[in-house]
Amino acid sequence: MADVADLAAERCETILQAGLAHRKPTVRLPACGECHYCGDDVTGERIFCDSVCARKWNHEQERLRRNGR
Ligand SMILES: [Zn+2]
Repeated sequence: MADVADLAAERCETILQAGLAHRKPTVRLPACGECHYCGDDVTGERIFCDSVCARKWNHEQERLRRNGR
């Protein structure tokens, strides 16, 4: 049986990635089999292992962008 928290995480990640792709078309992360935040193995087209990493990565990018100005 699928865990409700898992399903919620999946949905959050999908929304986050869609938002990333939509908001920053120049920054496109390739799916390389590793989480772009923590380096864990991921499968298929995923670029993060879960929504937590996606959010942390996004947060870090925002911070870098702000500091870079
Ligand atoms: Zn990760």
